[in-house]
Amino acid sequence: MRPVSYSRVRDVATAIATVTADAGAAYLAGGTTKVDMLRIYAEASQRLVDINDLPIDHIEVQPDGALRIGAMARMNDVAMAPLVMERFPVISEALVLGASAQLRNMASMGGNMLQRTRCTYFRDAEASCNKREPGSGCDALTGVNRGHAVLGTSKHCIATHPSDVAVALTALDAVIHVQNTGGHHAYPIDDFFLLPGGTPQREHPLNHGDLITAIEVPALPVGRNSLYLKVRDRESYEFALASAACALRLENGVVAEVRLALGGVATKPWRARRAERALLGQPATRESFARAAAEEMSDAVARPMNEFKIELAQRTMVRALETLAARGDVS
Ligand SMILES: Cc1cc2nc3c(=O)[nH]c(=O)nc-3n(C[C@H](O)[C@H](O)[C@H](O)COP(=O)(O)OP(=O)(O)OC[C@H]3O[C@@H](n4cnc5c(N)ncnc54)[C@H](O)[C@@H]3O)c2cc1C
Ligand code: SF4
Repeated sequence: MRPVSYSRVRDVATAIATVTADAGAAYLAGGTTKVDMLRIYAEASQRLVDINDLPIDHIEVQPDGALRIGAMARMNDVAMAPLVMERFPVISEALVLGASAQLRNMASMGGNMLQRTRCTYFRDAEASCNKREPGSGCDALTGVNRGHAVLGTSKHCIATHPSDVAVALTALDAVIHVQNTGGHHAYPIDDFFLLPGGTPQREHPLNHGDLITAIEVPALPVGRNSLYLKVRDRESYEFALASAACALRLENGVVAEVRLALGGVATKPWRARRAERALLGQPATRESFARAAAEEMSDAVARPMNEFKIELAQRTMVRALETLAARGDVS
């Protein structure tokens, strides 16, 4: 084990200044990802700056009706907040279906956005992995790739993005707020998560010292009729094989508004824009849901072990849409 120093900060400016000034420093939030990364030598921080005392843990409604979730809000507190449960059940459900109760009590929303892939080769120091060691190759391409992605892949990396709540936030067009020594930046969530391309080690646009301060979800009435459907090998404490975050509004049995994003099948939280376009104006029937789902997956690229995900993702989308359609329009 390499030695790591630890300090605790109480205000945002000090946190940013401390990490920015030291190339070996990193933020420590709940530690549920960070400590693992240090243990398995996937990251090499020499100094941890604990941000658990920062006053960025509130969940509040903004004057324009948007919901602002502080980066240090715990997954469980967000999942159980009445505001979230009423206005965005998809967020609450995505959180409750992730990790375990103990982890959710500790893990923060900011840390969740920056969790690392569960690809076993990434977590195995003996394996070749372009994400951990750029240019070293990708053992998953020819290895055990049952859990890997079929959308957004490249010849350099096929790892899935593991977050559940990031999928829900992607369906809702959330914005990630970031602070650094130069000021404030706001990233639409779809721009925040990067495709692997030739640089799978670069997963987001943040630079060293950038601090996520909040995640903002726009005021979307359709969010009230939303859900998160997660399909996995076992019913709890497991990552998704395929998941769908969905919000739906019908008018006279026709799709008037729809938001759809996928997890477990793509290299980033995947906004299913093709399916959304195919659904608008169509009758809310199993046939049109299946057609749209097939359209979304038409560019999917499977490996020998994960071909089943193409079908599974379609079934997951259809079931999510059917479930919401059966509830009627409650927005
Ligand atoms: C066994 C297990 C099962 C899990 N299952 C699921 C699951 O099913 N679904 C799911 O979505 N997740 C799951 N997770 C992942 C879990 O949700 C994340 O580990 C957690 O959300 C990370 O938050 P944290 O506060 O602990 O972050 P940390 O571990 O403290 O930090 C993670 C990374 O983010 C950086 N960081 C933290 N906060 C900030 C900030 N505000 N600004 C800038 N950088 C920051 C840190 O430097 C670090 O690099 C699981 C984790 C484990 C260990
Ligand atoms: S899929 Fe990505 S994370 Fe996994 S071994 Fe290949 S390069 Fe590494």
